[in-house]
Amino acid sequence: MTVCRFCLYSVITLPLTSLSAAQEWKSGVEWQQPPIVTPGTTNDQPPSDAIVLFGGRDLSAFENGDQWLVQEGIAIPRQQEIVSKQHFGDIQLHLEWSAPAEIKGNGQGRGNSGVYLMEKYEVQILDSYENPTYFDGQAGSVYKQTPPMANAMRKPGEWNTYDIFFTAPRFKVNGDVETPGYVTLIHNGVLALNHFELLGSSSYVAPPRYEPHAETGPISLQFHGDLVRFRNIWLRELKPAVGKRTSAGFNIVKEPAREPEPETEEASAQKAVRKSDDSNDSAAGDK
Ligand code: MG
Repeated sequence: MTVCRFCLYSVITLPLTSLSAAQEWKSGVEWQQPPIVTPGTTNDQPPSDAIVLFGGRDLSAFENGDQWLVQEGIAIPRQQEIVSKQHFGDIQLHLEWSAPAEIKGNGQGRGNSGVYLMEKYEVQILDSYENPTYFDGQAGSVYKQTPPMANAMRKPGEWNTYDIFFTAPRFKVNGDVETPGYVTLIHNGVLALNHFELLGSSSYVAPPRYEPHAETGPISLQFHGDLVRFRNIWLRELKPAVGKRTSAGFNIVKEPAREPEPETEEASAQKAVRKSDDSNDSAAGDK
């Protein structure tokens, strides 16, 4: 016997469809209202809840900030790394950087710097515009852990943006990793790292390895001897949405909307009479 597959499908799904149309599912969690954050005039400008580490005036938010040069709203590395005075855990970090317009050196020796999350996990900054090097050391890599998913470099002298979303690792009391760190990076609007699981801290001479540390740590910017320029550095501390479960998820059964009753002949006739009376009254009022 041949069974009509469409008919069978209809028999199975139709009752379910009409059932779900009459129900709404609720999570059973009472969520707090998310905070209002006023965005910047453009998306690269700090929102109302941002902590500005460098807005163009000085590098006083950093230890050794006075060692770097600040000129016309731009910071230029000199002498040593700078380390934020404030410490952070999970963050959204925005920064803009530009490799020197005058090309000097090659590979890791050209336009090298880096942003270290918690002073340990390096997202590489390098002039990777037509400048081959090992892939897990090019711009947008987590240094010696993973290459970026794309090379979105602008030319030397042009400005690059990094938008980094960082989840700090958590450690157990005994020092074991409870949850690893994660990094997402958008480089010039292009997703370069997608929730990459950090393997440990970055090192030039040793494999990545986790060592337990505090829940928060500073942001540092590397000095590698190159005149990489920086501007517009800000971050937001990330806090998850807050809610309290008050029950298991549940359905609300809604009464389906009722079709209006068809009008009887008698009711139609009465309505017609009322309409005629109204128009006669209106005409009389005109005199
Ligand atoms: Mg570097």
